[in-house]
Amino acid sequence: MKKRIVLLDGGMGTELIRRGFPQGECPELWNVEKPEVVEAIHRSYFDAGSDVVLTNSFGGSRIKVSAHGLEKRCYELNHAAAQIAKEVKKENEFVAGSMGPTGKFLRPQGEYSEEEFEEAYAEQAKGLADGGVDFLLIETQYDLREAFCALRGARRVCDLPVFVTMTYNHVPRGFFTLMGNSVAQCVKELEKNGVPVLGSNCTLNSEEMADLVKIMRGLTSLPLIAQANAGKPSLSTDGKVSYSQGPEDYIRFIPRIIENGANLIGGCCGTDPEYIRKMAEIIKIGKN
Ligand SMILES: [Zn+2]
Repeated sequence: MKKRIVLLDGGMGTELIRRGFPQGECPELWNVEKPEVVEAIHRSYFDAGSDVVLTNSFGGSRIKVSAHGLEKRCYELNHAAAQIAKEVKKENEFVAGSMGPTGKFLRPQGEYSEEEFEEAYAEQAKGLADGGVDFLLIETQYDLREAFCALRGARRVCDLPVFVTMTYNHVPRGFFTLMGNSVAQCVKELEKNGVPVLGSNCTLNSEEMADLVKIMRGLTSLPLIAQANAGKPSLSTDGKVSYSQGPEDYIRFIPRIIENGANLIGGCCGTDPEYIRKMAEIIKIGKN
């Protein structure tokens, strides 16, 4: 990582929808029912230049899949997610086990205890680890307390490296998570707890992400992850979601994200293999 920029992948959700996934259903179910589609998406990202792809398990915690009545299949769905990606990767390609937020809140804002969150993440991490991921990526976290539940759960069941990315809103006084955690608080506390690689994904566009990376770089010397959204989503009258940053506009800020100190870059919501291909070109130019 110190030697060159590592390229992650782009969005999974939009790629599933493009291939016929019906919105509102459980994306992780396709790891078992349509594995060939998930496999094709992973392959398209590796072909575009990704060094690492993220498993189709963003919403795979027990709490999240229980909304679809699939709580008994939590382990199975995550295990399958890992295996699909593992079978696609070639030499020098890697698979990260994606662990997104539960979508719920801890007490007092919500009704869950820290133990319940930790347990839900532990089960997911076990499925991903047994399925053969190379490391875990706890991502899109909007509450530092929840991120630590996920970290404890993951560490309880495996010895894999566990990376963490938080998601921040850009407000007039700076960048803060939904639960009000500052960038400094997140970076310092994650580093203090031995997280080897950390950063941010989602919510921000690539220009805002460049500013955030600069702030994070001022707080730590750890390798940093930056995965911006393709700008803001909007819904058309026929129900299609589109994003404000096309590939050309998005990648204009990639050199700045790298200059400001990111070590692992990739896309998030609204980005696809075309964005990743363009990012791969920029990284290659940087090497010459
Ligand atoms: Zn996103």
